[in-house]
Amino acid sequence: MRAVIKAVAGPGCSFVHDRPEPDLLPGQVRLAVAATSVCGTDASIHAHGPAARALGLRLPITMGHEVAGTVIEVGPHTAGPALGTRVGVETHLACGRCWACREGSGHNCADLALLGVDVDGAFAERVVVPAASCFEVPEEMSLETAALLEPAGSAMHAVQRCGVPMGGASVLVSGAGPVGLVLVEIALALGARSVVVVEPNAARRRLATARGALALDLDSDPVGEADRRTRERRGFDVAFECSGVLPALEALLDRVRNEGTVMVVGLAGGDLPVPVTRTFITRGLTVRGSWGRAIWSTWEQLSALVGAGHVDLDGLVTHRLPLSDLPAALALMRGDAGKVLLLPSLADSQEPGRTADAGADLQGVPA
Ligand SMILES: [Zn+2]
Ligand SMILES: [Zn+2]
Repeated sequence: MRAVIKAVAGPGCSFVHDRPEPDLLPGQVRLAVAATSVCGTDASIHAHGPAARALGLRLPITMGHEVAGTVIEVGPHTAGPALGTRVGVETHLACGRCWACREGSGHNCADLALLGVDVDGAFAERVVVPAASCFEVPEEMSLETAALLEPAGSAMHAVQRCGVPMGGASVLVSGAGPVGLVLVEIALALGARSVVVVEPNAARRRLATARGALALDLDSDPVGEADRRTRERRGFDVAFECSGVLPALEALLDRVRNEGTVMVVGLAGGDLPVPVTRTFITRGLTVRGSWGRAIWSTWEQLSALVGAGHVDLDGLVTHRLPLSDLPAALALMRGDAGKVLLLPSLADSQEPGRTADAGADLQGVPA
């Protein structure tokens, strides 16, 4: 079948027409991929940057992990989903047997495998996934929208985990990429009093404004007005770092109120020296991370907010491209693009072959 694979440990990827398809094992289903979206993790895998090398790719591998499709084959002795079911897929493939899985937190699985990293992924016409990793898509939701539940779920999970009720809260978001934008809408839908976004890119600031946030640029602010507005009288109740940039995280520690909370969502490489006494004792801050999505409460709550019209996932999509155009998708994402969908139904614009247009090793939000 047609697929985009990572075959060698270096920059680039290959678009092929002859990717073999495995037989189904018990507990697995085969999906016809309807839509798959491209993520910062895919950019890092394509570039073979440090973040991707740290994941320990099992080469060769079919790339891609944000996906929705239709069940076209069910493995032996497999309980649901039935043939024809429309599903989204949880990237974090949990073993179902370890303590964390049995205790109901599969995203902390001791034997976690990642779609498109450890097992063949979704930049393909068809993908094989565990039946237990499929989320049945609500009837009224399109499969293009459903492909975005996984990345948007990173925002939903951060809100679920922050421990701060959104009702009446003042919220600061750093970074207006797709996850930051979804976070704005979730916070407002759940009753946040105000959401301020800091973002250097003007196009992304406009998107954040359109979603109801006050969007500010701290980097080009000669008079300090933006800085003043991100230092509320008493500081923000909760701040979400979604840019994956370490200095941005450091800035948030200064901008939450005493006993406020900072949520780390974006994957930032490197370490941050933190003034321990001031941060954790005299100011009493809570700093938490958020990894993946709670299976399935994140998916349920997010799809309810999307269904009720509070979160606009379709509005994140700026481009729809054929599978062969992954390198073009990555180039668009280095500019102003929002979410780029790869649709196997579109005619490919490229012949099979390898491309090494790797670009930067993007930082971003976790898979
Ligand atoms: Zn497990
Ligand atoms: Zn992703």
